Amino acid sequence: MSVTHDVLEADADVLSRQDPELAEILFAERRRQSTTLQLIAAENFTSPAVLAALGSPLANKYAEGYPGARHHGGCEIVDVAERLAVERAQDLFGAEHANVQPHSGSAAVLAAYAALLRPGDTVLALGLPHGGHLTHGSPANFSGRWFDFVGYGVDAETGLVDHDQVRTLARARRPKAIVCGSIAYPRHLDHAFFREVADEVGAYLVADAAHPIGLVAGGAAPSPVPYADIVCATTHKVLRGPRGGMVLCGSELAERVDRAVFPFTQGGAQMHTVAAKAVAFGEASAPSFAAYARQVVANARTLAARLADAGLVVTTGGTDTHLITADPAPLGVDGRTARGRLAAAGIVLDCCALPHAHARGLRLGTAAVTTQGMGQREMEAVAALLTGVLRGTTEPASARDDVRSLVAEFPPYPD
Ligand SMILES: *Cc1c(COP(=O)(O)O)cnc(C)c1O
Repeated sequence: MSVTHDVLEADADVLSRQDPELAEILFAERRRQSTTLQLIAAENFTSPAVLAALGSPLANKYAEGYPGARHHGGCEIVDVAERLAVERAQDLFGAEHANVQPHSGSAAVLAAYAALLRPGDTVLALGLPHGGHLTHGSPANFSGRWFDFVGYGVDAETGLVDHDQVRTLARARRPKAIVCGSIAYPRHLDHAFFREVADEVGAYLVADAAHPIGLVAGGAAPSPVPYADIVCATTHKVLRGPRGGMVLCGSELAERVDRAVFPFTQGGAQMHTVAAKAVAFGEASAPSFAAYARQVVANARTLAARLADAGLVVTTGGTDTHLITADPAPLGVDGRTARGRLAAAGIVLDCCALPHAHARGLRLGTAAVTTQGMGQREMEAVAALLTGVLRGTTEPASARDDVRSLVAEFPPYPD
């Protein structure tokens, strides 16, 4: 910890001397992250070791191709880093094959489609208004332009995935692939169910586990790996690694997946990021990460319960994961207004589409605050601050002071 911390400080000194203008921006962002409350469900705080790998000279290396088969010379050392990242990912998730090169979660999904589909193929995925990602058929994304997406939804009463609808649509539309995964679904998905439907209609099953993959690593969520033909994921959400993506699959699809990542959709791998992914996989295989994953869920459950007590409508009535979506309408405020008011109080979260609703709701998560060391006691305090601001019983400026003192007790990085 102290070695990597010194590395960070030395880098910061160099930057301040050479480019004070940019250095000030970095310091300001670091201040923002450590003086406000980070409740964005997709964010986390990487370790100083992950940051050290990201800021290393591996960033200089061009490495098109795969270990042992590169288009560039001088790759013998970065090859070791990539092999290590791949082995650690395979061990961590019990996967026969891992590709750690996708630059992002979206790039991982693109690679999965490229490995399995042809333009025009039909794909069944959670509709965007119900929590699907842009890569699940948005007309503004390559997915919606190049494939024929059919959307299933969640039940209006329970908020749970409508299994009957999935089965009916699969039978009627005969998709080439079924996608399970969401940006906003707070419950565990039933991977066995999706596998059964995919088998019945002869479709591939793609699990987009960008959000829960970190909980899977820590044993706090069921793994899609035994069920899906391809699992796509990010490495920067609950998993707490560098910004990037990853694809897991069985050995029979390994070659197709690798060719779909490079050369089909990407050029050279970012070796500093690949090395940082190896560091994160190492961290996630430690027993302390399992404790972290359990605490993330316990914190989210407490927060969800207190928000419901205060009158917000929590989708599905709670959560199994790090993620909560809720409608603040009963407090007389819509999601967009709520996000603005909370930002003024230093509480940073997203608004999101709510299934079967017209106004937007709130989406929040506990991955970052749990990394900081906050527990259920702090979640009670966070819920009280948040609902006080939304109700108008706490002035944003006074909540801002309380937020500042709360987060000061849990610095994300040593000062
Ligand atoms: C976050 C997310 C992605 C995309 O990840 P990026 O790194 O932002 O491209 C894709 N699918 C799902 C379900 C996600 O939650």
